[in-house]
Amino acid sequence: MNVLATNSNAFISPTNQAEMSKKITLIIPVYNEADNINAFYEATSAVVEELDNYTWELLFVNDGSKDNSWEIIKQLAQRDARVKGICLSRNFGKEIALTAGAESVNDADAVIFIDADLQHPPALIPELLARWEEGFHIVATLRKNIQYSMVRKLGAKLFYHLLNRFSNIDIKPNSTDFRLLDKKVLSVLHTFEERTRFFRGMIDWMGFKKTYVEFSAPDRLEGNSTFNFRNLVNLALAAFTSFSLFPLKIAGYLGVTIIFFTMLLIAYMLFSHCFLGEVYTILAYFVVLNTFLFGVVLAAIGLIALYIGHIHTEVVKRPLYIVQEEVGLIDG
Ligand code: UDP
Ligand code: MG
Repeated sequence: MNVLATNSNAFISPTNQAEMSKKITLIIPVYNEADNINAFYEATSAVVEELDNYTWELLFVNDGSKDNSWEIIKQLAQRDARVKGICLSRNFGKEIALTAGAESVNDADAVIFIDADLQHPPALIPELLARWEEGFHIVATLRKNIQYSMVRKLGAKLFYHLLNRFSNIDIKPNSTDFRLLDKKVLSVLHTFEERTRFFRGMIDWMGFKKTYVEFSAPDRLEGNSTFNFRNLVNLALAAFTSFSLFPLKIAGYLGVTIIFFTMLLIAYMLFSHCFLGEVYTILAYFVVLNTFLFGVVLAAIGLIALYIGHIHTEVVKRPLYIVQEEVGLIDG
């Protein structure tokens, strides 16, 4: 007993303080950010140095930048042991870059995803940590003022509206990728094998104790947003097709509607033909019948879609459920 006590006391000696403190890894996706990385690094170091009871790691994921971002990251890594880097072989897109970053972290107590262009203010990090320390597993952020074009704003609005309405995840408009994940959430994220990725959606799908922090996004420091219309549409499609069967079911619904109305129409035509003396040409009957058959075909496609939906669910192999906590289990 005594020996144990002495040992554990020795363990808490100041020299081991660093080992005792919690480790936080910042995951920073980088695509052509050569003009921003240093400023980002300065701003972030200033913030994390204030929080000295944590151990910090800055993990830059170079997503196939065409400028010298990777050289700058390597220089930083030489100067500062907290800086780490991964260089992807080409541009895979932000979602994949975030995944690559998340998958190479295995000993952090929490990770924070943050953009390199200072649009996700590092000054918010202490607040994210404070909420995490309160016991939240996911601390997400909501962006208050968005300086995007009218079209992008409207598009975003429509996207969130449809996604919330027709998918099985609850995702807040204006939520960003700037978020903190507890290691518990991260380890579940590692089990996700799906290839079409909408990162925020996956995290929102997981549940866990979650809270939001608001911030106002400044303009991008240097350069332009690399998200063009095509990227955003692709992201929206990925989100939809991975979390909602609605697009597949549309055909089915349309088919059923057509069947319903053509049946009404045929009934009316027959009725008025027999009892009201109206005369329809054979061609008219043929057109209505044809439309009816069209409805049948669409409904059948909708039905097939349901089966494809099941296949999709099997193929993505998402965990069936996620255990948040256990009590009283032997090796819990
Ligand atoms: N980014 C990336 N790969 C890409 C596009 C962007 O890693 O293909 C990174 C980029 O370097 C930045 C973050 O993702 O750190 C957000 O990109 P951006 O500022 O262009 O998007 P926005 O702020 O307009 O959403
Ligand atoms: Mg940005």
